[in-house]
Order: sequence, then structure tokens, then C-alpha cells
Amino acid sequence: MRKILFIALALCCSRPAWSREQAGTLPRPKLVVGIVVDQMRWDYLYRYYDRYSPNGFRRMLDEGFSCENTFINYIPSVTAIGHATTYTGSVPAIHGIAGNDFIIQATGKSMYCTDDSTVNTVGAAGDAGRMSPRNMLSTTITDELKLATNYRSRVIGVALKDRGSILPAGHLADAAYWFDGKSGNFISSTFYMKELPRWVQEFNARKLPEKLLSKDWNTLYDIRSYVQSYPDDNRYEGRYAGNDRTTFPVRTSRMTGRSYDAIRSTPYGNTLTTAMAIAAVENEGLGQGEATDFLAVSFSSTDYVGHKMGVNAIETEDTYLRLDQDLASLFSHLDKSVGKGNYTVFLTADHGAAHNPNLLKDKNVPAGLWSGGKVQKELNALLESRFSVKNIVRSFSNSQVNFNYSEISSAGLDEEAIRKTCVRFLREQEGVAFAADMRDLNEAAVPEIIRERLINGYHSDRSGAIAIILEPAWYSGSPNATGTTHGSWHAYDTRIPLLWMGWGVNHGATNKPANMTDIAATVAALLHIQVPNGNIGSPIDELIKR
Ligand code: ZN
Ligand code: ZN
Repeated sequence: MRKILFIALALCCSRPAWSREQAGTLPRPKLVVGIVVDQMRWDYLYRYYDRYSPNGFRRMLDEGFSCENTFINYIPSVTAIGHATTYTGSVPAIHGIAGNDFIIQATGKSMYCTDDSTVNTVGAAGDAGRMSPRNMLSTTITDELKLATNYRSRVIGVALKDRGSILPAGHLADAAYWFDGKSGNFISSTFYMKELPRWVQEFNARKLPEKLLSKDWNTLYDIRSYVQSYPDDNRYEGRYAGNDRTTFPVRTSRMTGRSYDAIRSTPYGNTLTTAMAIAAVENEGLGQGEATDFLAVSFSSTDYVGHKMGVNAIETEDTYLRLDQDLASLFSHLDKSVGKGNYTVFLTADHGAAHNPNLLKDKNVPAGLWSGGKVQKELNALLESRFSVKNIVRSFSNSQVNFNYSEISSAGLDEEAIRKTCVRFLREQEGVAFAADMRDLNEAAVPEIIRERLINGYHSDRSGAIAIILEPAWYSGSPNATGTTHGSWHAYDTRIPLLWMGWGVNHGATNKPANMTDIAATVAALLHIQVPNGNIGSPIDELIKR
């Protein structure tokens, strides 16, 4: 017996390496599902905890792993960068997505993050599909999966927002689909394909946007049970088109006119996204192939509702309760089609959101609305009085001073003196905590955490020369601004949920600090694939099952 065992062992050990690999297969999940909830603050997990079902957010907490202390490690905290960073493990300084829109400093021209004039729309008329990930300079974790499996993995992105679908799906995606309001269709671009697959055409033919909007939006539960939100009738909320009040019911049936874009700022937009994601899994057979597939989904409606209504609105609470149901239906579909335990899910956000400054002010919390437009005019007037040239500052976009370099050089002005004047002027403005020249950031009296996030967020060809950091609870807006926004370094904008569930994931939670840039490295560790080529993050080891 021992002799037989010895011979068997000897045979086994003498086999060449490749045949050993053939004998055993590297364990990997059938499918990875990346979920970004646009504008989801970390504390929404607990603000509405008692109201969630066991099968959505709570399932991820109850079965999976929560990284409770995850932050965005760059400024500005906006959608395009959040999606690019989650999937590249990198930051604007490296991946180049320096804003939703950013200014090419050499020409002064504004560029939308996913604009690509070399491609055309697929699935509708118009320019909404002239998009691709070309402006993103590094690979994504989805690209690395394709590279690791010799392109056998399939990668598909789905979101209402083009950037929420295109950037996560990466350069090598099989497809990215996003919503076109004019046609009411999910569309794509010639970057990916010549025409929509039959199943997408059939999905569009179901006219779900029209059907969903035809039913007015009422709260899911008795409106008196929404004790985590302000009473429905308040002055901090915006009003929907076609509605005379800011209260329920929201007359979504009156919101369709020349386009279906109205669905974006209702929870129905997330339901539509879920239906599209499930259709992609079903029709593309994601999770059924030999190699691990990847579905990147982003729920955009939470951001549109949030901007309009704010953190304290019943509309926002109801949108999360409905998203919870959408998540439950996505998970239950995956359980059936891919199998429970055969897929890995992570859920995070591209950024959070602030409390409405007027609401805080009414409660005596220091807060404010910054009139950037007015300050820019005053700054330009000051610069003109000193340097005799008009409009030296082109814009304050992304909380950065963008200079008109062609004017500065053609008039032979002293750029250094202009920069110094700007910084001095901005520091004196109400609501401004810091103004710093990115060239001598090391000498500026700015806390280390802000300095690091500024450097990470600064791409020299695509970012403005001087950073403006507002005081806590201040943001740009008109004095009566309703709803909310985001973009700052503060915790309300940069602390994000990070949940993991399924194949390869431990059950538990940690309060150890993590960064958004650690997400891609963690996926890479789970799958045993290379990290993206601009990655600066590290795997979050505690969540990985051994
Ligand atoms: Zn966003
Ligand atoms: Zn937003």
C-alpha cells in the first residue's frame, strides 16, 4: 500500500507544472457584481436600518462584511471621480478623471469626463451615446479581469448615468449601457458595438419608463411612519416639474413631456436600472461561463432625488426603502440564476451629501451658501485693476481657480503675482477655510489630511491652479438653495458605505480605516488577479475568507 502511494506521489510530482494546473482549478466566483449607490452617505445604512427588509441592505450587513470607516481620499468628491476611483483603485492625479467636467488647462476648453467625438450613439438618435472611457488614463479592475482570463470573462456596465456605467465597465468592456431620456432607451456607443443586442432592443420595446412614471409616486408605507425625515411640507426641498407642491404624492404621471428624463429623479429610475441589470444577467448568461464575469451597476436616482430634496426628506427616505426592495430582487434573481454563494457583491457610493445649510442655520449650526459667481466677479475686478486685463480667472469649477492662461501669456503678465493675489483675496472671503496654490501646497498651513486629498485630486493638465476649501457645512449655491450637493473633503461627502457579500467574503465588520482606493485591490486579492495599472490601494484583508 505504502509502495503504491509512493509511486503515485512520485508520478504526481514528476508531472509538469501545466498539467498540475489542469488537474485543479483556481477557485473563483462565477460572477462579481459591483454596486455603486450614487450619493449614498455611510450613515444611511443606519439612519433607515429599522426600515430595511432582511433581503436588501440588511442582507449585506447580516451575511456579509462591512468596512465601516471607508473614506474618499481625494477632492473633489463628485460622481465621475468616485466611479473611476472605485474601479481603478487610483486617484485623479493618476487616472485623469479630474471631475464630471474638467478644464484642459492648456486650451481652457471644458471636457466632459466620458465625451468622445470619435464614436457615435447606438440605440437612439442624438449625441447621448458619443461617449467612451478614453479619457480615463488607467485600467480598471474590470479590465484586469479581462486581461487575467485572456478576455474570456465578460464585463457589462449598467446605469442611468453614462459615466456611472462607462467608467466602471472600463476600456475592455463587452458593453456599457446608459439611459437616454429623449428616446426612453438604454443606449450604448460604437466604442462597444455596431448595434444593440436583440435583448436590449426587446427591453427598450417594453417601454418601462412610461409604465413606471404613469403611476404617481406615493410613499411605500404610511407617511406618518417616516420619523427619520422632516415633515413633508418644508422649505428645504425642491419641487418637481408638473407639481405645484413639494409634498406627496409626486405626480410622476405629469412629468413626462418631450422626454423620459423625469424618471431619473424618482425611485423608479433605480427600479428601471434593476430590471436592466437582471435582463443583462439573464440574456448574456453572466455567471454561467467558464471564467468569472463582472456586472457593474450604478444606481443614479438616489443622487438626483438627493440633489432635489436633501438628506432630511421623506422623498429621500422612501427612495432608499424602494432601492432596498430593488436590491432584494436583484439578489434573489442572482441566487436563482448564478446560485447563492457563487457570486461576490460589493456595494459602495461615489460620494455622500451635505445637510442643507439653511436647515442647519435654522437650528443654529454654523453653515452657509457660498456665492462663487459673485466672488469670481470681484476677484476678476481686483485682478483687472492690478494687471489691466479682463477675466483673468476663467472659472471656479471643481472648487479650483482656472486661469485664462492665453490672456496671461499674450499680455506678458506676472503669473506668480496673479496667483498670490488670488490666494490672498480668497482667504479673506466669508466661508473660505483655506485657499492654496497647488504649486506650493507644502508651505500652505493646511491640515495634512486635506493636503493629501488635494494632491490626490490634482491632475496638472486637467485641474485648476488654486484650491478653494470651504468651511464645514458650506457649499456653493444661491441663498435659498433647496436640497443638497457634495464635492468637499468633509465626512458628510467622503465617508461612504462599503459592504461585501457572497463568495470569498467573511461575515463581520471593521472600524479600521479604509479608502475608496482599497476596493479594487480587494477585488483583485479575492480573484487572484493583478491590480489596475494606476492602483494605489491595498486589499482589506479581514473580509477575505481563507
Ligand atoms: Zn454621484
Ligand atoms: Zn450629485
